[in-house]
Amino acid sequence: MLEINQLEKSFGDTQVLTSIDLSVKPGELVFVIGPSGSGKSTMLRCCNRLEEPTSGSILLDGEHVTACHGAALDKMRLKIGMVFQGFHLYPHKSVLANVMLAQVKALKRSKEEAKARAMEMLDHVGLAHKADAMPSELSGGQQQRVAIARALALDPKVMLFDEPTSALDPELVGSVLKVMKQLRDEGMTMVVVSHEMDFAREAADRVVFMDGGVVVEAGTPEEIFGSPKSERLRAFLSRLH
Ligand code: ATP
Ligand code: MG
Repeated sequence: MLEINQLEKSFGDTQVLTSIDLSVKPGELVFVIGPSGSGKSTMLRCCNRLEEPTSGSILLDGEHVTACHGAALDKMRLKIGMVFQGFHLYPHKSVLANVMLAQVKALKRSKEEAKARAMEMLDHVGLAHKADAMPSELSGGQQQRVAIARALALDPKVMLFDEPTSALDPELVGSVLKVMKQLRDEGMTMVVVSHEMDFAREAADRVVFMDGGVVVEAGTPEEIFGSPKSERLRAFLSRLH
């Protein structure tokens, strides 16, 4: 589904990603962990070319994301849903308008079609009753679920999450994780960067540990949390407690 081959990324003289290989199968939830500055966000951002890879290739469903330009790149990006730490909703537009906007502008759906799809996705994240609210009237957890609904409304093939709950008050984290778990259960392909280790244990098919711009270790949650092989992973996990 999503295949990252020998991805390298440098900013000037600083190499931040080295020989990253990662293959995500359809319906798989791959969880990415690692210390601050290890390159997790940069890797996700390379997947939809918010960052330009220095070398290597990224394929989505066999199509080269890394070879796309212009309109083809815009089209490709629509297939890759992205949810960030901040929610980036348009503050002066209603929840419904936020979820409709890219559908109309980028996918050229009619207003009626976009509205129906938006309501369906808002219902999916438990927020159909907030369709007419403004983002500022919602809690952080609700805003993040709107951001998820907005990404889903574009019918992405894969969803990338970059610390979707780390800006939220602890009591709001659960509602967002619940939506993510539901998506997983429905078979969405997902890559999740997060510090929610309990969620990883419960929901991840595979956990990837990055440090210093390389994938140090990858395995099932049981392998990664239960019997870490590398000293770096053991040190990282021990710092969490
Ligand atoms: P965190 O857990 O803090 O979010 P991360 O694993 O997501 O960290 P990245 O944000 O990918 O790490 O950053 C990896 C490295 O790349 C860091 O050393 C960072 O300083 C560097 N970096 C990221 N973006 C840029 C940029 N635009 N220009 C220069 N260096 C950058
Ligand atoms: Mg990051």
